[in-house]
Amino acid sequence: MALHKREDIRDELLDDIYGSADLSVKFPKFKFPKDEHIPRDAYSAIHDELMLDGNARQNLATFCTTWWEPEVQQLMDECVDKNMIDKDEYPQTAEVERRCVHMLADLWNSPESAHTIGCSTTGSSEAAMLGGLALKWRWRKRRQAEGKPTDKPNLVTGPVQICWPKFCRYWDVELREIPMEGDRLIMTPEEVLKRCDDNTIGVVPTLGVTFTGQYEPVKAVSDALDQLQSEQGLDIPIHVDAASGGFLAPFVNPDLEWDFRLPRVKSINASGHKFGLAPLGVGWAVWRDIDDLDEDLIFNVNYLGGDVPTFALNFSRPGGQIIAQYYNFLRLGKEGYRKIQQACYDTAKYLAKAIEQMGIFELIHDGEGGIPAVSWKLKEDTDVGFTLYDLADRLRTRGWLVPAYSMLPNCTDLVIQRILVRHGFSHDLGSLLLDDIRHSIAYFDKHPVSKPLSESEAGSYNHSGR
Ligand SMILES: *Cc1c(COP(=O)(O)O)cnc(C)c1O
Repeated sequence: MALHKREDIRDELLDDIYGSADLSVKFPKFKFPKDEHIPRDAYSAIHDELMLDGNARQNLATFCTTWWEPEVQQLMDECVDKNMIDKDEYPQTAEVERRCVHMLADLWNSPESAHTIGCSTTGSSEAAMLGGLALKWRWRKRRQAEGKPTDKPNLVTGPVQICWPKFCRYWDVELREIPMEGDRLIMTPEEVLKRCDDNTIGVVPTLGVTFTGQYEPVKAVSDALDQLQSEQGLDIPIHVDAASGGFLAPFVNPDLEWDFRLPRVKSINASGHKFGLAPLGVGWAVWRDIDDLDEDLIFNVNYLGGDVPTFALNFSRPGGQIIAQYYNFLRLGKEGYRKIQQACYDTAKYLAKAIEQMGIFELIHDGEGGIPAVSWKLKEDTDVGFTLYDLADRLRTRGWLVPAYSMLPNCTDLVIQRILVRHGFSHDLGSLLLDDIRHSIAYFDKHPVSKPLSESEAGSYNHSGR
């Protein structure tokens, strides 16, 4: 009987995956599949399709973690079933999240006297929403108490990542974004002050501007706002978007004052999955003091007989990223992070120098005064027979993803290319990339492809803040 049955399914047992009936058909793409398939066959079909994605380690566009230690992978596997919102069921995961918040408050120099509060998020975008909401609530409460209108809040930023226009549109706040102008690609105190009034809920400097990698001058802006307060009585808080810089400056430029050392800085967001070195899916928001976060925004969850305050846009969320973040904190400490980030800066410097020496590019950022990234443009009035878009295409033939993009609306004729140097992008890999850039230029020398782009062809605002 059993033998017979085996005979019946013999075909299936012997099938090679690619000789199977399952893989001799085209899988449905847009209609819900009718039939079932054997796991290994379905897996192979999907696994193979994913080959067509770019190789993450060669993706020099992303800010996000693409290399981690095997222990991180192991912890992620162990946590695949943990929901971080179930504080009752997984009290230690909740505890680990809380410890991370305290460690970050400490790293960002929260004063001893402050009752720091904070939370994990899915990334800096969610953290920015929470930071923005806290600013809006605080401003509205104060205006209401003064009997003043609350219908026209505004937020002042430099050239920001897309999460801030999103915050402003979703929550009805006017965005006063300082446009880039000529060589000035970031905010300055003067430009900030021009846009502040008594409806300004806050100013958001970015520590590591998406487009170029530069740090905005948080301390100078804070000083200017102090001056404004002493002259006009306007008390405007700062939220720092430290998506990248929050995990760089404390280790590599500990003397740079951008964090809670400045009393005006009321909240900070950072992406754990960028230079925090955690796998994708974790960010952090930390407030200077519990008073900076209106209690109306906090929901209390019953937890082991007590109340756990939560502030989040999501409910269920994976816990592994938070655990992996904690692993990095314990495993690396300040010294470990410093060594990793310094290696990235050194590689960025090396790349920047070599790219400049090629003679046809002008550097915009080489890592100095910002994040470990290199950005450049073609020198003006050079006729090299290719655009940066062409170079990006050519590098793609070797698997390198080095985006070219145009700048903000009033700067669209400025096309730049940018490389993020992250954990795992070694000096040696960098030297191989440089070889490929040189080979590409030599190729275009023989086979020129493009005239310079006209303004309309240069494309519009590309939010490549990834
Ligand atoms: C990446 C980035 C964001 C968005 O962060 P996510 O973690 O991707 O949600 C916001 N601001 C800045 C400055 C960034 O670099």
